[in-house]
Amino acid sequence: MKVKVSVDEDLCTGCGNCYDLYPEIFEDRGDEISKVKDELGGNGAILEGELAEKAIEAAEDCPGEAIIVKIIE
Ligand code: SF4
Repeated sequence: MKVKVSVDEDLCTGCGNCYDLYPEIFEDRGDEISKVKDELGGNGAILEGELAEKAIEAAEDCPGEAIIVKIIE
């Protein structure tokens, strides 16, 4: 499976769940709002395998419904 992942900065509340639980995918952009890590390609990054599964879990757990995951393959 391959997914495209991004964080909608307008919906993110800065709760920190995603970058606390999945620091391999998300990071605090500097003001507690989350973003996909630059080393993965930033928002809009394409993830595969275990990272893709974790991104889906993070999206399901996000209280702001701010994590957008699109399955592309
Ligand atoms: S879990 Fe959702 S609301 Fe919380 S920091 Fe991450 S993207 Fe933002």
